[in-house]
Amino acid sequence: MEISGKKISIIGAVRSGIAAAQLAKQLGAAPFVSDSSAKDKLSKASQVFESENIAYEFESHSDKVYDCDFIVTSPGVPTDSPVLSKAVQKGIKIYSEVEFASWFCKGSIISITGTNGKTTTTALMNHTLNECGLKCYAAGNIGNPFSEIVLGVNQGEFVALETSSFQLDFTENFKPHFSMILNITPDHMDRYENDFGKYAASKLKVVANQTEEDFFIYNADDANTFETMKNSRVQKLGFSVKKEIPVGAYHKNGEMHFAWFGKVSKVCSSSDLFIKGEHNIANALPVMAIAKLLSVPNQKIREAFASFKGVEHRIEFVRELNGVEYYNDSKATNVDSVVVALKSFSKPIYLILGGKDKGNNYDDIKDLVKEHVKKIYAIGVSAQKVEDYFGSFISTEKKESMEACVEAASKEAEAGSVLLLSPACASLDMYDNYEHRGKVFKQAVENLN
Ligand code: ADP
Repeated sequence: MEISGKKISIIGAVRSGIAAAQLAKQLGAAPFVSDSSAKDKLSKASQVFESENIAYEFESHSDKVYDCDFIVTSPGVPTDSPVLSKAVQKGIKIYSEVEFASWFCKGSIISITGTNGKTTTTALMNHTLNECGLKCYAAGNIGNPFSEIVLGVNQGEFVALETSSFQLDFTENFKPHFSMILNITPDHMDRYENDFGKYAASKLKVVANQTEEDFFIYNADDANTFETMKNSRVQKLGFSVKKEIPVGAYHKNGEMHFAWFGKVSKVCSSSDLFIKGEHNIANALPVMAIAKLLSVPNQKIREAFASFKGVEHRIEFVRELNGVEYYNDSKATNVDSVVVALKSFSKPIYLILGGKDKGNNYDDIKDLVKEHVKKIYAIGVSAQKVEDYFGSFISTEKKESMEACVEAASKEAEAGSVLLLSPACASLDMYDNYEHRGKVFKQAVENLN
């Protein structure tokens, strides 16, 4: 795609928008970045734009936005925001940052979409291919904007691209060589006018341009993603943690298999995976399928799965002390994530729960808590709610701080048990964000002796 000399308006001046502007400039286009946020929130952007001579405006979107050949929008900008709606009315083409960057990618894109598990799967994909001697980059929602790395990617190399449905909203020519949809459950409905069909349709766009030379990997246990593949010409592979399937990857009796039109090979055991839980087996199966399609030897896949230690704050192993294992699952900001975490352990759990409650219904974890949890430490502004709910059937104690929880657990938890921070709540009552909360937890654990 030739963009030299084109006028490109870029909406949003955070990481993706900054990277898209730099990419456009580097390729000889004339970018103009517009962001409605206050100046003081965008100091990084203004520094870059000033030093690289990129035109921009902050605080509001002026009509200058529409004086362009096309618009590139950042993932955080709502699809129906006035600035984009007006552009649509004027007949201006809008592309997402992922689509824009993909025009310049010489390597193969592996697009990873889904409601849950995207970051973990993207990181595992990236780790596996690199460990197996192939060059791969992780990009997209995982943290590095695609526009930032794309020009460094050569032919024969790969990009594991975490692609949110928001980024797929404005795609037209996006054509990954491999795509996967991990699962589709109702989420972010606010952005899709509470219409599940619209949300699912947005994820489907990932296969829209794929052809018979490309591959689409779908979740055969999830009827929603199964539906997506019906009319596409792409080569389809399924993955399943529940049943054998003829083409794709499945898990049965502790073993992970790859099936290719009736020919089945045992690739590895689920115990080879360092990361815990059935949800992570589901995340690893499509990664394994792609590694097999790329002819990676089974032994290499096994080694890569064993050496992948997971993503920070997602059931992250911190340390073992006196026979007690400490896990940080600070990313678990809702009850669904706690379900996944509790199911991942067969050992008794001491659980740190609480924070800023977003309307949790603890009925959804009541039985699992009864089955797996020995004691709850309740923290944050919702500590009382946690105690009121669980206190009558599980030992529950309110604590003032993370350090106090860790300290208490280190004395009370017996060898062979787990202390798990999986709080089911947002962190903002006590911390800057979930990452901050996780780091405080890990520090408290490291301080134990
Ligand atoms: P995402 O990037 O899609 O938010 P992450 O890999 O960051 O996903 O995982 C976030 C949380 O989602 C995890 O802590 C876990 O609770 C849950 N999760 C991860 N993988 C799955 C899965 N395959 N199915 C259901 N839940 C999952």
